[in-house]
Amino acid sequence: MSLTNCNVSLLAYTPEPEALICLAARRCRSDKATLDIDTDGAERVIKRVIEAGHLSVLEHVNFTFAVDGISRVCLAQLTRHRIASFSVQSQRTATVNDYVAPRGLVCIGVDRDIRCYKEELDAGFEHEDARYLLPQAVATSLVMTMNARALLHFFELRCCRKAQWEIRELANQMLKLVKPIAPNIFKNAGAFCSQNGYCRETAPCGKMNVPHKDFLFELYQFWEREKNK
Ligand SMILES: Cc1cc2nc3c(=O)[nH]c(=O)nc-3n(C[C@H](O)[C@H](O)[C@H](O)COP(=O)(O)OP(=O)(O)OC[C@H]3O[C@@H](n4cnc5c(N)ncnc54)[C@H](O)[C@@H]3O)c2cc1C
Repeated sequence: MSLTNCNVSLLAYTPEPEALICLAARRCRSDKATLDIDTDGAERVIKRVIEAGHLSVLEHVNFTFAVDGISRVCLAQLTRHRIASFSVQSQRTATVNDYVAPRGLVCIGVDRDIRCYKEELDAGFEHEDARYLLPQAVATSLVMTMNARALLHFFELRCCRKAQWEIRELANQMLKLVKPIAPNIFKNAGAFCSQNGYCRETAPCGKMNVPHKDFLFELYQFWEREKNK
């Protein structure tokens, strides 16, 4: 039994992702045959579609990640994201050895539970039954695919300082991997406030130096009142 760290790698991605998005966006308005559409100036096109919220063109581009060493706590949050594909290590076949826990947490209970689980395996119980003894801290591995639109949304929610630390760490690692591959798509990617320039949280972290949406509405209403005086 051991404490493990989250390890993320990029397994595969759609080739020339930004050119493809540019082509898809231009397809909508061009008279040309699709293969005759040029993809110069992808940076400008991508900026425009993201700013305008015409995000469906981002769905043509996929990224596949290998994720090792996240807890089942993190997995439960991750798989709430429905616009994604997951292949997760099965506890019906694989024997659990590792776990993830916050720094400083006393893990005697986790160690004991995993020991009991292994004793039941040794006693002849099937993995699918012995696993009922396992705590949420146990580590798992998976392969996950998301398209660029779903990823931007995932980053908005999970890179936010209000997100739980483990999934935030995972999201930040994923962002680091995709940014060099598609720098224009992920230029402002990150927490909602970095993508949108304001915060919408009901209890803001107060650390990001951006206005809250309530403040912006108040400011706008104030401006409307002053203008009409
Ligand atoms: C800080 C934080 C705290 C959370 N706390 C809780 C909690 O206490 N309890 C809890 O249950 N969950 C909680 N969640 C999970 C959250 O409610 C979402 O389930 C999760 O973030 C996935 O978001 P999503 O549905 O937008 O993403 P996805 O499932 O990836 O979907 C992406 C987008 O597709 C669209 N979409 C997908 N499916 C449908 C559908 N069936 N109908 C219409 N539109 C759809 C929506 O626009 C959605 O935003 C929390 C999430 C965060 C970030």
